[in-house]
Amino acid sequence: MKKTDIAVCGTGIVGLATALGLTRAGFRTVLVGPQRVIAPARPHCFGARVYAISPASRRFLESLGVWSLLDASRVTPVEAMQVFGDASGRLELNAWQDAQDVMAWIVESDEIERALTQAVRVFGVEWLNDRFVAFDAPGRICTESGSLIEVDLVVGAEGARSAVRDAAHIKSSSRAYDEMGVVTHLHVERPHQNTALQWFTAEGVIAFLPTPNTQAGAQVSLVWSMPKKAAEPLLAMAEDQARNWLNTHLAGLNHELGQVRVAAPVLGFPLFLESSDVIAPGVALVGDAAHRVHPLAGQGLNLGLGDVAALLNVLREKPSYQRAGDVRLLARYRRARAEPVFMMRFVTDGLHRLFSSRFPPVVIARNAGLSIVNTVPMLKRQLIKGASRH
Ligand SMILES: Cc1cc2nc3c(=O)[nH]c(=O)nc-3n(C[C@H](O)[C@H](O)[C@H](O)COP(=O)(O)OP(=O)(O)OC[C@H]3O[C@@H](n4cnc5c(N)ncnc54)[C@H](O)[C@@H]3O)c2cc1C
Repeated sequence: MKKTDIAVCGTGIVGLATALGLTRAGFRTVLVGPQRVIAPARPHCFGARVYAISPASRRFLESLGVWSLLDASRVTPVEAMQVFGDASGRLELNAWQDAQDVMAWIVESDEIERALTQAVRVFGVEWLNDRFVAFDAPGRICTESGSLIEVDLVVGAEGARSAVRDAAHIKSSSRAYDEMGVVTHLHVERPHQNTALQWFTAEGVIAFLPTPNTQAGAQVSLVWSMPKKAAEPLLAMAEDQARNWLNTHLAGLNHELGQVRVAAPVLGFPLFLESSDVIAPGVALVGDAAHRVHPLAGQGLNLGLGDVAALLNVLREKPSYQRAGDVRLLARYRRARAEPVFMMRFVTDGLHRLFSSRFPPVVIARNAGLSIVNTVPMLKRQLIKGASRH
């Protein structure tokens, strides 16, 4: 039977970052999860899954030595953001309003995963192409292929359907938004000026995130949190038909990018609000295994990377006599994450509820609210600061 300090279960971005950080910090770590083959990046061709990476996440990826492994020509800085209400409300945020150059960076999911996989291999992290199945006994995990591993701590990073969370009997609560996150790439006629655009509409929240130009010209990535009753038929359409539907429905938006044309396959993801306790004796949860939030603020992965940074801090400061899975030690990790995760749930769910209401006074108030914030520099500074922190 294999013995090690820590097993990280889950090989998405959060699991890879956890295993890398723990190995760099000197813990004997085994990574358990599928080894996905990531196709080499193709010039002028961008994946549909992109993330808005916050300054805090960038600093964390830099500290792991991963940021510099990203292909800089595939990373787009977001210098400004324009938010439109569903009536006349409008808010404009610029990075310089908080004395920053950039508010976030748009990076493809595959690009981050590729860089992390490279770093994990360079640091010699042991990676079992397997899956966590159950606890065979306290402190002993069993994988799909039948391997048994004895560990002090199991980190559950297997995303929303966390088997570690279930096996450790950690309670979680989940509420489905009646929406799908519809994503694709769009050609636009005029340059996006590194500005992200977001509309709160009766058909859901629509975001255009700036991405690098291709031979065909300027591009943005679309993230549309669309009611299921519209999204499900759209996702069931033939590709040409889906593209035409989106081209027509996006034509009515108010912006300065000119004509918009869908340039890639259309994908959809169901949206949930989910949270759970994040620890049990010998167990810690990170990333989507611990929480899921509405993507309207583009913060789910940033929260997950914040979990990893906090867990690493706690474990690095561990006295040598204490075991990594000691629940008193892990309680410090729980305390460190309680407020940021609560605030992100509160803000994203609150905004979602506010803009889902069709009640006329609420419609007037939310649009007036956006326009009022737009005139108060201090509030704008706080909004930019808040988004950078996670
Ligand atoms: C439409 C949309 C847009 C978004 N935009 C943004 C954004 O702009 N910015 C942002 O910060 N966040 C964004 N998010 C959130 C982000 O996608 C997630 O928070 C993030 O992908 C979670 O990463 P993860 O590694 O925790 O989980 P996952 O990516 O789900 O990875 C889990 C991994 O665990 C593996 N696994 C599963 N079961 C097991 C098992 N039993 N044993 C071992 N391994 C297992 C899986 O194969 C997978 O590799 C968005 C989400 C949506 C839906």
